[in-house]
Amino acid sequence: MNDIFRRLREQTLENPGTATFSRRPALAPIEQTVDGWFCLQETGNVVHWSVATDETEPVVDAARKASLIGRMASQFPLATWFLPAGAAARVCRTCDGKGHVPGLPRELADKVACECGGLGWTAG
Ligand SMILES: [Zn+2]
Repeated sequence: MNDIFRRLREQTLENPGTATFSRRPALAPIEQTVDGWFCLQETGNVVHWSVATDETEPVVDAARKASLIGRMASQFPLATWFLPAGAAARVCRTCDGKGHVPGLPRELADKVACECGGLGWTAG
């Protein structure tokens, strides 16, 4: 297994609520959803894992994928290694490249992710 992915996964599993990932060793949690998790794979692909059905579905939208990895990288810098390279990108229209939603009070600004995931740019 890729050393960067292995260490990144170890770091993400230190977050509470991730014990269920012991049965999916090839997935690193990014963000919890109503019925599962967005997860990173060693290949750099992002999938949604439904915990109830144990099925994974790929996230194919390039902007959504980069945003999720960017959100992950804001807490775990190793995730930057998995950002798509060479993809078409533009400055995020919401934050104008600043990486956070403008106009939010400080306590919310750390919790509400911009559509770019904090990267300041969007893919696609
Ligand atoms: Zn943004």
